[in-house]
Amino acid sequence: MKSRDLVSSFCAASTLVVFGLARTDSAFASQEKPPAVESPSQAAAVPSPAAPAPGSPVTASPQEKQVSVAEPIELAPGVWAGRTGASNAGWVDLGEGVALIDCGGSEAEGQILKEQIKKTTGGKPVKWVILTHLHGDVSSGLPAFFSKGLTVYVHEKVAPLVKRSLEGKVRGGGEIPVVTGVFDTVTIGGKDRQLEITGLSRPAHSSHDIYAFYPKERVLFSGDLLNPGICPKFTDPDCDPDGWLVALDVLQHENAKSLLGSDGSPRVFVDVEFEITREYMTRILGLLRKAKAAGYPEARISSELHLMKTGSYCPRQRDAFNALSLYRRMTPEGKFTRPATPSSAQPEMP
Ligand SMILES: [Zn+2]
Repeated sequence: MKSRDLVSSFCAASTLVVFGLARTDSAFASQEKPPAVESPSQAAAVPSPAAPAPGSPVTASPQEKQVSVAEPIELAPGVWAGRTGASNAGWVDLGEGVALIDCGGSEAEGQILKEQIKKTTGGKPVKWVILTHLHGDVSSGLPAFFSKGLTVYVHEKVAPLVKRSLEGKVRGGGEIPVVTGVFDTVTIGGKDRQLEITGLSRPAHSSHDIYAFYPKERVLFSGDLLNPGICPKFTDPDCDPDGWLVALDVLQHENAKSLLGSDGSPRVFVDVEFEITREYMTRILGLLRKAKAAGYPEARISSELHLMKTGSYCPRQRDAFNALSLYRRMTPEGKFTRPATPSSAQPEMP
């Protein structure tokens, strides 16, 4: 089987991407409301791509395509948050090199992040890239970071897939990054500055989520598992809301004092974000299980959601999309089926 086919069969439907495809819910990202505004003392804002901060440049990509980009902000000493296109990325200066958590939605976005990292760290090399999962909006910038000595961390479940994919995609005799699969927790960095990378044991937002934690400053990089002020995205066909609730407990146990997700603004009131996300998931799961037991048709789900009044946290369109994605996969017992057919998605390296 070609690596392309392996990618497709793993990705399932058109939602998962290895370096180049948009997930099906990516269109939602540009329609989402900006995250809730907190006072400057509560949070440092990474502006949404639709509304970059005053003074933030809008940078042209090498393909002369406009990419929205915000100026990076320092979350803690040596810890930065950046935003290009529709997703956030974080980086940590670990002394001998930089660890990057997620890398933008295209190679052009990756190049922009690379420049920002260079400026903010005094030119230190990116030695480690942690992909919280393989959705294209957070992983497709990876080729911009290919270099000698680069190690890419992904969940153990997808490491063989990523290895094969990279072997076919590194061009012109370039260096193929080392790919390391993470299950439990691994630690990278030097003696004084270390970053912990943890793989989840069961599907949550995707089938293969990992997250990073920087204990020195207690900064949590949560990927799409926790996006401050933005409701969870249930649209990956491998998504498991029950596993996701467990994942929230695991992440909260880190006792972080600041948080950067794949979307939304960084937050310092971390526990509040956990509670809001958990409450939303619990409510929507309760409704869907009740509806399934009563045999509601799909058409009734949207109106039932409206009655639930989830407020402005989750825009109605996203709410309905989330609910229907789950309802269609829900068994009478309230469990969720996973896709049996391969994806039609065809990954392409930028
Ligand atoms: Zn995602």
